Amino acid sequence: MPPIVLGAGPAGSMAAIMLARAGASPVLIDRDDQVGDALCGGFLSWRSAERLRGIGVDPAALGGHPVGTLALIAGTREATAPLPVEGFGLSRRALDTALRARAVAEGARLEIDRARSVEPGLVEGETRQWKAGAIFLATGKSDVRGQIRPRTAADPALGLRLRLPASERLQAILRGRIELHLFEGGYAGIVLQDGGTANVCLALRKSLLAEAGGDPLALLDWLASQYPRFGERMEFAPRGLAIDTVGSVPYGWIARSSQEGLYRLGDQAAVTPSLAGEGMAIAMASGEAAARAWLSGMNAPRFQQAFARRAGRPVRTAGIIWNLAESDRGGRLLTRLAAGAPWLARAAMALTRI
Ligand SMILES: Cc1cc2nc3c(=O)[nH]c(=O)nc-3n(C[C@H](O)[C@H](O)[C@H](O)COP(=O)(O)OP(=O)(O)OC[C@H]3O[C@@H](n4cnc5c(N)ncnc54)[C@H](O)[C@@H]3O)c2cc1C
Repeated sequence: MPPIVLGAGPAGSMAAIMLARAGASPVLIDRDDQVGDALCGGFLSWRSAERLRGIGVDPAALGGHPVGTLALIAGTREATAPLPVEGFGLSRRALDTALRARAVAEGARLEIDRARSVEPGLVEGETRQWKAGAIFLATGKSDVRGQIRPRTAADPALGLRLRLPASERLQAILRGRIELHLFEGGYAGIVLQDGGTANVCLALRKSLLAEAGGDPLALLDWLASQYPRFGERMEFAPRGLAIDTVGSVPYGWIARSSQEGLYRLGDQAAVTPSLAGEGMAIAMASGEAAARAWLSGMNAPRFQQAFARRAGRPVRTAGIIWNLAESDRGGRLLTRLAAGAPWLARAAMALTRI
């Protein structure tokens, strides 16, 4: 029976590509017929870019915006640090479309179905049952019944995303850089992407949304009024712009074991705090490693343990930085450190990579 890969994001598509290349004819299942823009900062680290080039997907050829500088902004203070190697701003629609197409070109069979539940050997879809000796679970931010990740944070992180329309003024401001605006209780990442639009993605404590009456627009307005540098960017957002949200992201969670025949990938294997911009690299690394493991006969529990060890350092380091960054004092400290000791910023960037 061919293996099943559930979820065609960066993790699942990468696994499907590696399995297909080895002649395993995987079935790649996703709930969405049309590839959308997943909620994500859209920053491809140099590690992500390397991995993509390794499978013949070139972020620059997809229109990715080259990024060479990190700008940390806390209050009125700004510090910049060069990235060790250039990264890219790329929309998830462009990336996921290219990865899916590559998986199919390599020999994966793409099927559209929404999984209701997953257990070893069986995916219960909305249209039918899918059976396989090996299932690669890559549903990312969405949990599926039978495989729910534990949520323990009292005030969990939630994600918000909007896309600022292309404008020459905004492009002049953001060219070549990714901005991280640090807030009490979270941050916003802003980067140009293919087509000249700018992706604005925030991770914030859920309590902030509650304080804004549960209204994402009111929350953005409040942040813009409290943090003038962020407010300047939000002036480029016309009223009525769509805001995507995702609730309760289990930052820091790592799967340390799994069931026989069930390989957990991407955010279903390890959730790194997103301000490090390494989630997609970890997702692709897990897809590649899990495919290799299965092809070499390594069972799922052993793969999961090994991958948990590999993801441990970047996820823990990103957790420390996220905890520091999400207080006004810590944010200012980080900005001062980045300005005074750029080598420290580079070391932090390196330590958060897989
Ligand atoms: C606020 C925020 C900002 C981020 N910014 C960045 C960033 O700038 N750079 C970075 O590298 N990472 C970033 N990340 C992390 C990154 O988005 C994830 O780590 C990455 O998308 C994980 O990839 P994945 O393939 O595991 O899952 P996903 O990208 O979530 O893909 C999952 C796939 O599974 C499908 N699926 C889901 N449920 C089902 C189902 N029931 N049945 C069938 N199919 C299903 C979906 O349609 C989707 O195609 C950010 C995360 C957050 C929360």
